[in-house]
Amino acid sequence: MSFQDIKGQEQAINILQNYLHDKGAAQSYLFTGPQGVGKFLSAKTLAKTLNCLQESGDCCDACASCLKIEKSQHPDVHIIDVSAGAADTDSSAISIEDIRRMQKEINLKAYEAREKVCIINDAHNLTPEASNALLKTLEEPPQDSLIILVTSKPSLLFKTIISRCKIIKFYPFKRSALKDLMKREYSCHEDLAHFLAYFCEGRIGQALSLKDAGLLKEKNKIIDELILRKGSADYRKGLDREELRRYLNVAATWFRDVYLLKIGLSHSELINFDRRQELLRSMGLYSYPALNEIIRFISDAFLYLEQNINPKLLLSNLKAVL
Ligand SMILES: [Zn+2]
Repeated sequence: MSFQDIKGQEQAINILQNYLHDKGAAQSYLFTGPQGVGKFLSAKTLAKTLNCLQESGDCCDACASCLKIEKSQHPDVHIIDVSAGAADTDSSAISIEDIRRMQKEINLKAYEAREKVCIINDAHNLTPEASNALLKTLEEPPQDSLIILVTSKPSLLFKTIISRCKIIKFYPFKRSALKDLMKREYSCHEDLAHFLAYFCEGRIGQALSLKDAGLLKEKNKIIDELILRKGSADYRKGLDREELRRYLNVAATWFRDVYLLKIGLSHSELINFDRRQELLRSMGLYSYPALNEIIRFISDAFLYLEQNINPKLLLSNLKAVL
């Protein structure tokens, strides 16, 4: 994907494209912003553009260099991505061995690249030892090299690491803008585009990963069976943690909507805009204290879910408060 294809990050991309023309530019960058807004994609695109054989100021995505970087096979572009291929991997640590391997490579003369690039995705997973080791490279970066740290949780990084990097901020889309984009560029129908934009809070990466997943149908099934009809037999068999997380996510959006309707939020801001008639009916069923209790229960339930609580037990407690 080229810079031109990355949506909604014009400010960050302008800075990066200026970097390409500035020989005295920083050698270490920190890309920050929520998950799913294009940080890692932009880091990879910068690595491609720096080394693209077309040298056009954006990557071509077709030359030998671009293709090797895309497949993580370029000898001079080193990517540390412990989360690759796994879901919810915040627990995966980036070890001192990972950093030592990177240091060995970045200190070698480039085989074929104009500039060696190292990208560390989810850099908040660096262990303290790995952070200390990385700091040495950030203090004295090898010539013609660029290090890009990518994180949605910069507060977990050592301050000394942050202070060595130029920070580039990435922002989520405005929800209405993401809704328009999902309709225009990805042919989503009105209800789906609205739900994705609001459910994903403007994060395009998440919206794209969910757009074909039958999400709208599934969330409406959960609303019907768990909330409006107060549970059905389906929900008692073979429930796993991931399924329960989905139920909780949908329940959280529903009661958030009920609450915000009660305090007078405009209907267009509802996540479950496609179910606004039922939401309006639900409004009268819950007092503010009851809604507070439900919202608190759901938020606690996400924590319990991390602590190996039996999903069935948690679901039956959830049903009891709804
Ligand atoms: Zn290229």
